[in-house]
Amino acid sequence: MTVTTDVLVLGGGMAGVAAAQTLGEAGVRTTLVDRADYHQFQPLLYQVATSQLPAEDVARPLRTIFESVPSVDVVVQAVSSASLADRTLVLADGRSLSAAHVVVAAGARPNFFGVPGAVEHAFPLYSVADAERLRGHHRALVDDAGAHGVGGPGSRDVVVVGGGPTGVEVSGALAELVAALVAHGRMPADARVHLVDRGHAVLGQFSPRAQAYAHEHLAAVGVDLRLGAGVASVHADAVELDDGTRLPTRTVIWAGGESGAAVAQSAGPTTGRGGRLDVRADLGVEGFPGVWAVGDVANVPSGTHAGAPILPQLGSVAQQSGRWAAQNILRSAQGDDLAPFHYKDKGIMAMIGRNAAVAELGAHRHEVDGPLAFAAWLGVHAMLLSGVHSRTDAFLSWAWEYFDRDHAATVEAHDSPRRIAWGDDAHDVPHIDLGAPTSE
Ligand SMILES: Cc1cc2nc3c(=O)[nH]c(=O)nc-3n(C[C@H](O)[C@H](O)[C@H](O)COP(=O)(O)OP(=O)(O)OC[C@H]3O[C@@H](n4cnc5c(N)ncnc54)[C@H](O)[C@@H]3O)c2cc1C
Repeated sequence: MTVTTDVLVLGGGMAGVAAAQTLGEAGVRTTLVDRADYHQFQPLLYQVATSQLPAEDVARPLRTIFESVPSVDVVVQAVSSASLADRTLVLADGRSLSAAHVVVAAGARPNFFGVPGAVEHAFPLYSVADAERLRGHHRALVDDAGAHGVGGPGSRDVVVVGGGPTGVEVSGALAELVAALVAHGRMPADARVHLVDRGHAVLGQFSPRAQAYAHEHLAAVGVDLRLGAGVASVHADAVELDDGTRLPTRTVIWAGGESGAAVAQSAGPTTGRGGRLDVRADLGVEGFPGVWAVGDVANVPSGTHAGAPILPQLGSVAQQSGRWAAQNILRSAQGDDLAPFHYKDKGIMAMIGRNAAVAELGAHRHEVDGPLAFAAWLGVHAMLLSGVHSRTDAFLSWAWEYFDRDHAATVEAHDSPRRIAWGDDAHDVPHIDLGAPTSE
């Protein structure tokens, strides 16, 4: 059976939700399809992985988000294939959906770059389910350390692969958690967090000053930085680096890169850099009328000139491009000219842990660190969350409390993560399936 609608949105992440909200508010009949029944907020996944936040606080049911937008219909099904030439999505339950316009907002998946053993043994951190699996695994190691004392060498160590913002954030948070647990006698004193990156500095896209700040903070909280070395292979009990070092570990976190969602690879268009869909400046896919690609699945150009650099895979890019593609669909429905995407650049930022953050603000990259950078991080992320939650004040108070948290509070949160006081209804619960790790 084929069901026809005006617009199909594939993916309920930041890009897909922004697109569907804009279309729905204009009264356009829109169907949003996602394999999960919730929207997930990736910037806080590492808080879930380190037991500082419960998973349901970063996963908001899609039906709740669109409760007050009657022209948006949410379909919870995996899309098993897409044929963008005829704007059709085939769902896992066998149904087909077609529309006059399709917005592809399917995000990205981890890229293991063919490193042997990485798919089998490393923990990706791309979805709420990934974060929950990692939390459960680390929690078991901690409980085991408490119950049975020290295991084999390195058995409580964590190796984080990738020194970009995700790798830095998760390393900083884990090192603080481990230090707090050690201080409370819950982990052996030799438990370490190692951060491995092929480059010679962490936070490659930031300024040398921000890189130095992050490096110093990570070293101060006990992270062992292994720079200039790549991962050669991952095993159940160790990681081997290409300089011959073997790091014993049972926990490898993969923050080493991503590529466009699997569903985009066989949808019709030839994919470009990073396995992502190339788009024109107006966010349409060339040669596929009525098809738009936004957010992490797309190579979104930063300008209209040929060879304009591609914007980074960031929440603000996803949210703004989703909204913009929807506005272009509305323009085309009214017979107006399409407008080239104009990105309002908020800058780049990373939280490195309690009391430490770096930010380069706006298009001119004004550099700040410490509490000011944290405040900037909060402002930008509250804006990203405002698309799916009305209580951003609750997020702000939780975050300031986290920023100031001491060892005792960190351990307490690990045992019983403090909720953000969203004020959600009891029925407002996401269904988080811990099935297979994110590979699509
Ligand atoms: C750990 C981590 C931390 C980050 N931290 C920050 C940060 O601090 N600040 C920032 O700005 N950005 C951050 N980012 C990047 C930011 O989160 C992303 O750029 C943004 O979420 C991308 O949104 P999206 O809508 O394009 O994709 P996603 O949010 O990935 O959404 C894609 C959706 O498509 C669905 N989907 C995919 N394939 C299918 C299919 N076949 N069938 C059905 N559904 C499908 C998925 O279930 C998902 O819901 C972070 C990313 C990660 C992974």
